[in-house]
Amino acid sequence: MRAAFTDIVENQRLRERLRDDIAASSLSHAYILEGAEGTGKHTVAMRIAAALACQNKNDPAHALPCMECPSCKKILAGNSPDVITVNRGDKATLGVEAVRELKTDVYIPPNDLTNKIYIIEEAHLMTVQAQNALLLTLEEPPSYVLFLLLCENAATLLETVRSRAPTLHTEPISSEQIERYLRQNIPEAEKFARENPQQLAELITASAGSIGRARALLDSKRHVPILESRKRTREFIRLCSSKRNSAQTLRFLASLSQKRDELTEQCNEILLCLRDLLLCKQTEHAPLCFFSDREEACTLAYGFTTPELLALCDGITDTIERLRYNANVRLTMTAFAVRCGLLQ
Ligand SMILES: [Zn+2]
Repeated sequence: MRAAFTDIVENQRLRERLRDDIAASSLSHAYILEGAEGTGKHTVAMRIAAALACQNKNDPAHALPCMECPSCKKILAGNSPDVITVNRGDKATLGVEAVRELKTDVYIPPNDLTNKIYIIEEAHLMTVQAQNALLLTLEEPPSYVLFLLLCENAATLLETVRSRAPTLHTEPISSEQIERYLRQNIPEAEKFARENPQQLAELITASAGSIGRARALLDSKRHVPILESRKRTREFIRLCSSKRNSAQTLRFLASLSQKRDELTEQCNEILLCLRDLLLCKQTEHAPLCFFSDREEACTLAYGFTTPELLALCDGITDTIERLRYNANVRLTMTAFAVRCGLLQ
């Protein structure tokens, strides 16, 4: 069987379906790529574009896409004018104006490829008007056009959109599969695994099932702040479970970033950690998002009752809301510490 989409990890069903559709020239003119954030939807979309343009497309001696021919290289480097990414920019939704622009653009023939591929990111954030505006084009686009609608949950798209595009699913990849991939393919990862296995496990957990993110985190510029943030999250949980000590709490508050975005990110991470602790109290098997070591999570979870953990989740959620509405950063965090009984 011909090798296809070789740098997409796991997701065997998806890879086989695409390989067979491309080989039989029976590719639909639109697909919905559905999967959680970080499961590689964009990577899959770019590989489909490369497979369609690959100069070795019809040579079974090469993998599909070959990743080496000039067409593959141009597309994978993001330099092809015929692979067009449509996104919401800094707006909250993907509106009808963006779709109108796209509808005009589809009738301009491709520049140097035989196909024109539109990657619509966060398609679940398309407004109803935008989806309706897209319908006709989605049904009968020019023959060279392929639409790839990337979304976290296809159920949020209109039934009329879903009926015009088969849904393909990208699956999250387990930590073990990511580690195996990194160690087999990236020499630095193998070195990391030998010298600091605990840190590598931490980074893989922080990558939340995304190979791309895990690869990026191997760079020390990226991973040092992540590891520090995870350390602060643990410190916060220990503070909450231990005998309250105001001096420690003040030190912890001082260690937090005063930048709204970074603080919001830290709060989201604490929320993820609290979620793990709640799960540990209910079941032994649920997959954890923050902890790479289940025993550590279970030990920390013993320090709390379920209502205590729920109250902390409420407090953090409220803090994230306040940060979003421009509340004073320092005051918000101090108020939160008081509310959790950390300052007495
Ligand atoms: Zn190629």
